[in-house]
Amino acid sequence: MKSVRIKVYGIVQGVGMRPTVARHASACAVTGYVCNKGPFVEILAQGEEDDVKKFIDKIKYEPPKRSAVLKMDIKEKDPDEKYKTFEIIESSKVEGEIFVSPDIAICDECLSELYDKNDRRYLHPFINCTSCGPRLTILDSLPYDRPRTSMRKFPMCSVCEKEYYDPSSRRYDAQPVCCNDCGPSVYIAGTDIKGEEAIRTARSAVALGKVIAVKGIGGFHLCCDAANDAAVERLRQLKSRPHKPFAVMMKDIDTVRRYCKTDPFKEEILTGHNKPIVLLDKKEGEGVPFLSEKVAPGNPTIGVMLPYAPLHCLIFDYKDDTLVSPVLIMTSGNVSGAPIASTDEEAFSMLSGFCDLILSHDRDINIRTDDSVTDTLDGKLYMIRRSRGYAPLPMMLSKEFKGELVAYGADLKNTFCIAHDNLFYPSSYIGDMEDMRSSEVLKSSVIKMNKLLETDPEYAVCDLHPRYVSSLLAEESGRKIIRVQHHYAHILSCMAENDYTDEVMGIALDGTGFGEDDTIWGGEILRCSLDGFERAGSIAPFDHCGGDLASREGYRIALSMIGSIYKDGSEDVIRVLDLCDLNAFRAISKMIEKKINTVKSTSTGRLFDAVSAILGIRKTSTFEGHAAMELQFAAERNINEPVIPDIEYVRSGSGRKIVATDEIVRFITDERIKGEDPDKLAMTFHLMLAEGAARCALDAAGDIDTFALSGGCFQNKLLLTEVKKRLEKEGKKVLIHSVVPPNDGGVALGQALYGMNKLSKIGG
Ligand SMILES: [Zn+2]
Ligand SMILES: [Zn+2]
Repeated sequence: MKSVRIKVYGIVQGVGMRPTVARHASACAVTGYVCNKGPFVEILAQGEEDDVKKFIDKIKYEPPKRSAVLKMDIKEKDPDEKYKTFEIIESSKVEGEIFVSPDIAICDECLSELYDKNDRRYLHPFINCTSCGPRLTILDSLPYDRPRTSMRKFPMCSVCEKEYYDPSSRRYDAQPVCCNDCGPSVYIAGTDIKGEEAIRTARSAVALGKVIAVKGIGGFHLCCDAANDAAVERLRQLKSRPHKPFAVMMKDIDTVRRYCKTDPFKEEILTGHNKPIVLLDKKEGEGVPFLSEKVAPGNPTIGVMLPYAPLHCLIFDYKDDTLVSPVLIMTSGNVSGAPIASTDEEAFSMLSGFCDLILSHDRDINIRTDDSVTDTLDGKLYMIRRSRGYAPLPMMLSKEFKGELVAYGADLKNTFCIAHDNLFYPSSYIGDMEDMRSSEVLKSSVIKMNKLLETDPEYAVCDLHPRYVSSLLAEESGRKIIRVQHHYAHILSCMAENDYTDEVMGIALDGTGFGEDDTIWGGEILRCSLDGFERAGSIAPFDHCGGDLASREGYRIALSMIGSIYKDGSEDVIRVLDLCDLNAFRAISKMIEKKINTVKSTSTGRLFDAVSAILGIRKTSTFEGHAAMELQFAAERNINEPVIPDIEYVRSGSGRKIVATDEIVRFITDERIKGEDPDKLAMTFHLMLAEGAARCALDAAGDIDTFALSGGCFQNKLLLTEVKKRLEKEGKKVLIHSVVPPNDGGVALGQALYGMNKLSKIGG
């Protein structure tokens, strides 16, 4: 007989953990007890060795739907007492971290009540229960109780109160519980239109092809009919956003199946309780209903989510005669780069120029939260933007750290991260720091999260870049500063989410980041430990001329590369490729020669932009990653067998190895001039880059057998898969991201890990 004590940490309160555990115990013939200790659930399990093992697996793999198990502590115990049954017992709470739950999408029971004419919450836009509804976004401070949420202004009616105090009710202890009599109400902002009439007005506006703003759980969306070309085009013009894909919300999973290719795993995420935006391949051909091409122009995929707030459901389906499209654009209600609007004032100032009316409500959003965006890879999540439904769930690392700090992240796709001992709390998505409003929100969100987590860190971690706004805010905070190089932080974030703290070979393929030698980095092979890193290799440096302009105008990087590869023959190459007129090329060459506004760069993002321009796929970008994405799409639609030439992929440089990306560009350019198909060359480029990066890292690895892949370019799953494959073929272990984005949204977590390691050493 075996006896074990199990502690389960995470979101384990108010999610039905104890009854589920008791059910598993009886299925496995295990005796003992389960009790709620506050920060964790404690289980004592006795039984035959195999049964106990089965029981532990069941808790691990079949936890209650709304729970999030961060860690299970399992210890063998002397069976000093023999248990004949398995019981749920009450016990005194112990001190410790209580985890804040992310917001939870409307559950099936609430959804069916919403449309049940006989239910007292029929069509109630704020229906929720213990297993669904807003959490983080309505919270002021802990513990999570109604008076500390934005529901405090809505006293419960007697019927709601009865449910709230009745342990047999689905709304027992559900803080945001309310009904048509006592809950918040919806209205059209700036008018007298309220309640049912407001919903009808908004629905008919959408049906007529207008653009509306809708206040949801974590902020406002801009919404219009995605099957109405004119409406989508108008929204693009209003937002001055010509190409960047819009996310859509589809009425239900059947609608998704009509428009997109799905698989069981993708459907599980779409319909699950987080309800993020999931990237799906568009369906093509006969029988697929019309969707405006302008939703995601030139893009074979589309970001899709299902309704997650009851108000969203009511926009699709209501007791009136209006017919609303089953596919609506639902894009974050913000100015490009700014945080999502969360109050009526912000909606008026930021969004009124973009929309015809604003459907709002009077439940305040305390912490704004954008929709999360996720892709999938090999049956796992592959996160692009981690926010609603996931934040502020912490990562729990096995290694013990002591102390607390706040890491300010990067300037693009900013998130921050608060760390407290071995818990790391990455924040919701904030925005791009070049927008003043984002930096204000970063400042205020750090204060709010510190209040929620009851932390007051003495230390701040920030990027090495001297002019990053996020670094300046860290300095202004008055905290002691720890600085971390950008790409090292990327690799650390990948290590953190994999709970891996030994040495790794990191491959960081990224846009741009400030390097230790004052040049721009972004294609780095780094030997990393928690204490520091060594730059073991990089892609071939090129001249980055024209500052930020070059990230919009990728052809400028192409000109610089061609100039240095082909020297006197450059003008012929540029003429054949029709890259630009020769005067522009001569002007850029002059600037590079005289080093005017020119720095050395190893940015993989810019390399992608340049190759995209050389292949005639896209010369300029209207959003970050635009040209690079189209290069990836070209490679993915290629149907020819690519030829991988046997060039020298890695050479020695000064003090480090160099991935011969200049030779790769030369090969691709030569082939293009010979008339080779651009799609095939796009694929060839991906494979050659993967080959070069993998070989360089393998050469530099020595006895390190674990590799970590991070950086924004690894959002490109083709590149990721090809690099990973090559490393695994050599028997290496490869860490990749899953719930933390590979892009700059993940940097804060890596910064925090570096800082905590340092603090723990100072402390000890
Ligand atoms: Zn519910
Ligand atoms: Zn009520």
